[in-house]
Amino acid sequence: MAFDVRKIRKDFPVLDQTVNGYPLVYLDNAATTQKPTAVIEAVADFYKKKNANVHRGVHYLSNLSTDLYEQARKTVQHFINARHDYEIIFTRGTTESINLVATTFSQAFIKPGDEIIITVMDHHSNIVPWQQIAKRIGAKIKAVPVTDDYQLDFEAYTKLFSPKTKIVALLHVSNSLGTINPIKKFIDFAHERDVPVLIDAAQSIQHERIDVQELDCEFLAFSGHKIYAETGIGVLYGKEEWLDKLPPYQYGGDMIKDVTIEDTIFQDLPLKFEAGTNNYVGAYSLKAALDYVSQIGIEEIAKYEKHLLNYAIEKIQQIDGVTFYATKQDNKVSVLSFNIEGAHNYDVGMILDQMGVAVRTGKHCTHPLMYALKIPGTARASFAMYNTTEEIDQFIEAVKKAKQMLT
Ligand code: PMP
Repeated sequence: MAFDVRKIRKDFPVLDQTVNGYPLVYLDNAATTQKPTAVIEAVADFYKKKNANVHRGVHYLSNLSTDLYEQARKTVQHFINARHDYEIIFTRGTTESINLVATTFSQAFIKPGDEIIITVMDHHSNIVPWQQIAKRIGAKIKAVPVTDDYQLDFEAYTKLFSPKTKIVALLHVSNSLGTINPIKKFIDFAHERDVPVLIDAAQSIQHERIDVQELDCEFLAFSGHKIYAETGIGVLYGKEEWLDKLPPYQYGGDMIKDVTIEDTIFQDLPLKFEAGTNNYVGAYSLKAALDYVSQIGIEEIAKYEKHLLNYAIEKIQQIDGVTFYATKQDNKVSVLSFNIEGAHNYDVGMILDQMGVAVRTGKHCTHPLMYALKIPGTARASFAMYNTTEEIDQFIEAVKKAKQMLT
C-alpha cells in the first residue's frame, strides 16, 4: 500500500481539532500515540458484542473472548517473530514487564555481590526496578556511559563485565534523544559471556522492525499505547527456557492448575505470569493496532518518519540560538530534543501550546542522562506517521515565536 499521510490522518479523529485557535499539532508521540478508528471501534465492538472474562467459562461469550485474547497473543508473536505464542506475556506495559523480570530474575539468580548492567541512557523504568532490587539484595548496578555524540559507549560496556555479571538490561531507542542503539552488538557481547539480555523496546516497536529471534535477546518489553493501542496493555517477550526458569511474578486466579490450602501447582506459560483478570480488551486493541500498522508497513512508516525528522532538523538548524541534541546521526528515530538558549524548556512548551503545538518538556524520565549531558531538560518534539511537513512548519514558527518572547 502506498503511504498516504492525508488518508492516514483521517483514521485519527483526535487530530482534527483546534487548540487555542490553531490547528492541533500533536508532537508528543513518544509519550503516547493517538488511536486510529480501527482501534477505537475494535474496543467499542468488543464491549458491544464480545465481552466476557477469558479462560473461565464454558459459555459462548467466554469462549469468544478467550479466542480473541489468544489471537491477540499470536498477532504479537508474529509481529516480533517470536518462536512460540506462549513466549508472549501480556502485562500493563513496559514498566510492568521490566518489573516482572527484575523481580523474578533476581529471586532466581541474583545474590549479594552480583552485578547488573544497565545504561545511563535508560528510562527510569529500566533503572529504578534494578536499582531497588540491587539495594535489597546487596548487588551492584553498573551503568554504560554515554559518549559526547550521544551514543552508548560500547568500549566502556565491554569493560563493565566480570564473572559476577548476571544480566544486562538496556533500551533500544532513547526516548529523550531518539538514538537507536546497536543492541545486536550489545547482546552478542553479553552472550559470549553467557549473560542474558533484556531489551526495553518502548521507543522502537513503533518505528523499527523487531525480530526477537534475529536479535536473540532473552527478554523484550514494550507498551501498547506507544504503538497506537490502548493504555494499560503491554508485552513481555521471553525465551521459553528463560521464562520457565523464573518463578511467578504475582499469585492468584488464572495462573494455577490446582490449589490446596497447603500448596499450589502453577500453570504453564504464558498463564503462569498472568495472574488475575488481565486486560483482555487492551490485548484486543493491541491486535487491532498491530494489524493497522502491518497493513501500512512498518518500513513505510519508518521511511516517512525519517523524512519528517530530516525536514524538521533542516528547519530548526536555521534558527539561531537553538541547541538540538543528537541530530547528526543516521541511527535515530523521529525524536527531536532541543533547547532555546536562555529559555527554560517548560516556558518553551507553554508558548508552543499557545500556538496549538503539543511537545513534551523536562527530563523525560531520564534524570541520569540529563545529569550526564549537564542539561536541566529539553523540549522534545516526536513525530508519528500521521504528522505532516505543514505541521512541522507550524512547529517551527512557534519555536521562533517562543525565542522572540523568551530571549
Ligand atoms: N522505556 C522507555 C524508553 C520509554 O520511553 C517509556 C515510556 N516513556 C517506558 C520505558 C515506560 O513505558 P510505560 O510508561 O508505558 O510503562
